Amino acid sequence: MTHTPRKRFGQNFLHDYNIIYSILSSLQAKPGEHWVEIGPGLGALTGPLLKLGLCLDVIELDRDLVTFLEDKFRQQDRLQIHSADALKFDFSALAENNEKLRIIGNLPYNISTPLMFHLLDNASCIEDMHFMLQKEVVDRICAAPGNKKYGKLSVMMQYYCATELLFDVPPESFDPAPKVMSAIVRLVPHKQPPVKIKDLEMLNRVVTQAFSQRRKTLRNALKKLIDEEAIIALDIDPALRAEALSLNDFAKLSNLLQELP
Ligand code: SAM
Repeated sequence: MTHTPRKRFGQNFLHDYNIIYSILSSLQAKPGEHWVEIGPGLGALTGPLLKLGLCLDVIELDRDLVTFLEDKFRQQDRLQIHSADALKFDFSALAENNEKLRIIGNLPYNISTPLMFHLLDNASCIEDMHFMLQKEVVDRICAAPGNKKYGKLSVMMQYYCATELLFDVPPESFDPAPKVMSAIVRLVPHKQPPVKIKDLEMLNRVVTQAFSQRRKTLRNALKKLIDEEAIIALDIDPALRAEALSLNDFAKLSNLLQELP
């Protein structure tokens, strides 16, 4: 079958065997584990994953590709193909008997952030996740305080997961080649949250507000939410900018705001 890549589904198919091999080697996958692949496309990762002896569920939105995959892998009894939108998919329904899922995907870039947060809503049934994303997004996910890439995505993702950039992937590894560099990120949901948060919505709100104008000091950026004295009482310098604050600092701000009338 010849398939014309569909831009609206973020279709950039991997065709570089060295990169596919590097991804597979970094997974430390073991036979019998339960894996889920998001957006299998033409099966560039699906085939090699199955060769490792895994049980694999794949979720693909493009119906033409589902038909192609059903034909290509029709002999595989360890593979379940789901014709579905990963953004609406109930991942917890795949995890039987308290097992933990291992997730992988060369993700469509246009939905990668909402998809990761949708998965993190089910973090208790996930062992780890390996994703191909735009390098810019991976850098932001993994950035530490003080780094110019550190922002809302860093704080929120690091609340849920340990994050690690594994390696970069150049545009020519894909067909068609995207305009930007990609990278592989490993996300491992924390067994226990690294900080205590009373209300995640409030954390989201304070982080959004603090980074809404990165160059402003906290005293100005958070003026509508909290006054300067209260920031000082939390042992946080109100003259700092949001990019200097740790996850723990954001937790303190959010928990205080939660208590305010
Ligand atoms: N895994 C293949 C590879 O590495 O060559 C394809 C990767 S391609 C970047 C993204 C894949 O995700 C495409 O097959 C696309 O059709 C699929 N996709 C796009 N949106 C999706 C969604 N909401 N749910 C599930 N799959 C989706």
